[in-house]
Amino acid sequence: MASLFVADLHLDLARPHLVELFERYLASDEVRGAQALYILGDLVEAWVGDDDDAELPARIATATRAVRDAGVPVYFMVGNRDFLLGEEFADRAGFTLLDDAVVHDIGGTPTLLMHGDSLCTDDLAYQAVRAEVRTPQWKARFLAQPLAARRAFAAKARDASRSHTGSASESIMDVNAQAVAGAMREHGVTRLIHGHTHRPAVHALDLDGQPAERIVLGDWYEHGSVLRVAADAVELRGL
Ligand code: MN
Repeated sequence: MASLFVADLHLDLARPHLVELFERYLASDEVRGAQALYILGDLVEAWVGDDDDAELPARIATATRAVRDAGVPVYFMVGNRDFLLGEEFADRAGFTLLDDAVVHDIGGTPTLLMHGDSLCTDDLAYQAVRAEVRTPQWKARFLAQPLAARRAFAAKARDASRSHTGSASESIMDVNAQAVAGAMREHGVTRLIHGHTHRPAVHALDLDGQPAERIVLGDWYEHGSVLRVAADAVELRGL
């Protein structure tokens, strides 16, 4: 049996065909017959709180809950777009929440799972913002605002992120090789799966003289992308 991995879906009702693709894929035989489904962050374009009564969170919860009800565990790790997603929505959606940087046995291989943004250590501006908004104080202050104010803030942050991503150089936006090696060494693994950079690939690398592997998940802006890992096979493909 295979485990399935997705990340960076950035679901948004502005791209309805991708929301529908997500719903269709989660109802497919591949997902319903999987060992587990892992969602490694940035499932949605923006998350303003588990109390959001909009259409999209409700549709996501219905789709993922059905996978869980079919007997397939659904693991969820937050990304930088949905770091405010918490236990309340996880319960509704049938998610088991994972910490960023956790090791799971995937098809017999201890595998480090991350969203990936913490590995982009060359992007100092981004890391500064990340450190600020991930504090319990910032989160509590944000979530105390009315839903309408939170939605307005998320729309503004999205525009700012878009202009930053447009201007920063490619090398800054990708992961830092030392950060990758450091994380794998710290967790004692030779396989890492992450998303965030939207550069789907299977990279072979040398980790202290040992062959190692970094698998990067693809985004869902134009089409879907999924990674399938079984004991004897790794397949990264479009949907
Ligand atoms: Mn991300």
